[in-house]
Amino acid sequence: MNEPVLTLEALKSWPRSDGKTHLAVLGFPIKHSVSPPMHNAALAKLAETDARFANWRYHRFEVHPNDLPHALDEFLAAGFLGLNLTVPHKVIAFDKVYVTEGAKPIGAVNTLVRDARHPNGWIGFNTDGYGLAKAIEEELNIEIGGSDILLLGAGGAARGAAVQCMQAQCYSLNVLNRSPQAMHELVALAKSVNPKIPARGILPNDLSHIGHSSLVINATSAGLKPDDPQPVDLAALPRPRAVYDMIYNPAETKLLAQARALGIPAANGLGMLVHQGARSLQHWIQAATGRADVRIPVDVMRAAAERALAGH
Ligand code: NDP
Repeated sequence: MNEPVLTLEALKSWPRSDGKTHLAVLGFPIKHSVSPPMHNAALAKLAETDARFANWRYHRFEVHPNDLPHALDEFLAAGFLGLNLTVPHKVIAFDKVYVTEGAKPIGAVNTLVRDARHPNGWIGFNTDGYGLAKAIEEELNIEIGGSDILLLGAGGAARGAAVQCMQAQCYSLNVLNRSPQAMHELVALAKSVNPKIPARGILPNDLSHIGHSSLVINATSAGLKPDDPQPVDLAALPRPRAVYDMIYNPAETKLLAQARALGIPAANGLGMLVHQGARSLQHWIQAATGRADVRIPVDVMRAAAERALAGH
């Protein structure tokens, strides 16, 4: 199913009492998001054993950043159960909704759940860190807790990753970034989350200061485009135990190709995408049914995401 790109115009005549439960991802742009096929495949699978899910639908909406504040009210009025937010809305929504403790240090939310207990009607979670940790555990057999981490990048995704590393009690955190200011800010944030864990910044010409790095996590966008530089030369580092690249499209970045050539276990960001989505779905199901034990079909979600990325 190729879910059409909707705009806020569609909410004006939204069928409020059609007996369906509506979910959506909001972004600008949004047409390349694989979340709609991924979630609708999961809902179809869940509907095979629980008829309630046959009426759940996940849509995509292109929403201009200026429109987000009033859009949140409009989705509420139209009866939506939940929303996923992607660039640039994760940060904009942060100030507009009630934010869970876990998401507060990140400064961004990617999952909203309708909740009448809060004046603005939504509660905001960030499931990206969970998705990252779960994918690393599942695909690389490494727990972030207790690991030495070399985090590449200091943007929004790196922020979520750094908070996750500190909350999960990594052994140490090194943040490597091209621009010093963003790097220093991220190190300060990491220290504020857990001052007991050693955290420090590294500039690209400073690699000799990295004593030991068991897990390299790429949270830069270097690798999205074919002519992008590699964010770090793995051969210039103490040999890592594994490399996780948050990028999933392309499926193999230069960084991952080098890890493969060096025989270092490595994985791309698809697992993170799938698991953050699975966690969002869990939040919505729990809000609607009170059940926290519904098994989310992550394999089905992964297969649907892979098909969508392959253009099918
Ligand atoms: P931002 O724009 O916020 O940050 C980009 C980061 O990449 C900055 O640290 C920037 O460094 C660095 N960077 C950009 N270009 C280069 C380069 N040529 N060389 C070295 N460093 C570079 O982006 P996000 O944090 O939102 O996203 C980062 C990546 O994470 C993206 O590829 C995105 O697709 C991926 N992602 C994956 C997810 C998943 O579910 N798998 C979820 C979220 C994001 P500087 O500060 O010096 O500019």
